[in-house]
Amino acid sequence: MTFETSLSFAKEMDQQDPLKDFREQFIFPSFHQKQIRYFTGNSLGLQPKTTRLVVNEELDDWAKYGVDGHFMSRRPWYSYHEELTAMAANIVGAKEIETVITHSLTTNIHLLLVSFYQPTGIRKKIICEKKAFPSDQYALQSQLKFHGCAREDLIEVEPRDGEHTIRHEDIIATIDKHKDEIALVFIGGVNYYTGQFFNLKEITAAGHKVGARVGFDLAHAAGNVNLKLHDWGVDFAMWCSYKYLNSSPGGVSGLFVHEKHAEDTSLPRFAGWWGHDKEKRFFMEDEFYPIKGAEGWQLSNAPVLGMAAHLSSLKIFQEAGMDRIGEKRDVITAYLEFLLEELNVKKGEILEVITPKNPKERGSQLSILFKKDGKQMFDRLTEAGVIADWREPNVIRVAPAPLYVSYEDCWHFVDIINKFE
Ligand SMILES: *Cc1c(COP(=O)(O)O)cnc(C)c1O
Repeated sequence: MTFETSLSFAKEMDQQDPLKDFREQFIFPSFHQKQIRYFTGNSLGLQPKTTRLVVNEELDDWAKYGVDGHFMSRRPWYSYHEELTAMAANIVGAKEIETVITHSLTTNIHLLLVSFYQPTGIRKKIICEKKAFPSDQYALQSQLKFHGCAREDLIEVEPRDGEHTIRHEDIIATIDKHKDEIALVFIGGVNYYTGQFFNLKEITAAGHKVGARVGFDLAHAAGNVNLKLHDWGVDFAMWCSYKYLNSSPGGVSGLFVHEKHAEDTSLPRFAGWWGHDKEKRFFMEDEFYPIKGAEGWQLSNAPVLGMAAHLSSLKIFQEAGMDRIGEKRDVITAYLEFLLEELNVKKGEILEVITPKNPKERGSQLSILFKKDGKQMFDRLTEAGVIADWREPNVIRVAPAPLYVSYEDCWHFVDIINKFE
């Protein structure tokens, strides 16, 4: 596809965008004097207009039924999470038995590490990516401590000198090099800082080949890139719903456990009553019988208000479909990259996009490293109504989330940088 730098070209792209009407389904922030151009869907997605309606329905049912709402409300709270399972499973390429919406993200990281990180003998090392999201680093370090392992048991694969992203072959080589010592490979599917989307299929295969378990934190991947967790044979994964999935600040999380582990009751796990066999839940027995599959990892009954927010957003994803979202994602991200490259030529290399160029190695995020004055540039963008994300020392991250970002938004973003002196 060939792009042009004119504003009229951006407008034409918007006209032809099959997803253009979805923008209307979201609420753009109103605190600013300028029209908002929202590029932080990778951090907190926008609120769908339907969210208030669905949350209100739950508040109404709570008012109307009190405790009887567990069984009598329009979407009984007792089985509320089941309303979300099929749609969520679809987004990550999982079967329903492999998926449950529950808890928050870091909680799910810990719950699944308890089950899938079992250091024994010399096989106790964990491989992860350097500069993983801090919560993941803390989770892994504290799990190591919990098992009496050393900090050195965490092997972080890093970019080569002078490079920003991690080479796939280096991840595979690290797995091979430590083949007898690795208990777990645990990587963020899309790195939050660089936007690099790792080859999860091959990493999974490489980890399994050496006898390790493989899991992914999909916080920046779910609702962004196309995933096939079941087909790839990933052991476990988790993601949050409030980034690309637009499901309220701190919203509920998704948890995936591959079907091959569905009936494995030998896996250690921290259990709670909501993971107990549904038929017997209210017998209040003292012996724990886990539900088969992902639901068996639930601890608590569903936080219905957060789940309602997620439900409203999942319906939008179902309507749009990950295939169409993926098509626009690749085009609009390439378009934004094109504009930045043109600007670079014009202005004399003022910036560098550190996100991989290959569309298969990224989602809808570009991380832009400014050679100088990055913070001033960022402040100028903010004044002009562009919501982007600043990372020290000199990086601005922007995510043209396909459901509500327009080509014209991208054009204006680059135009503001262009006018910066
Ligand atoms: C956003 C994000 C988190 C945040 O965790 P919470 O438990 O939802 O606060 C954790 N890990 C990654 C990779 C993230 O991108």
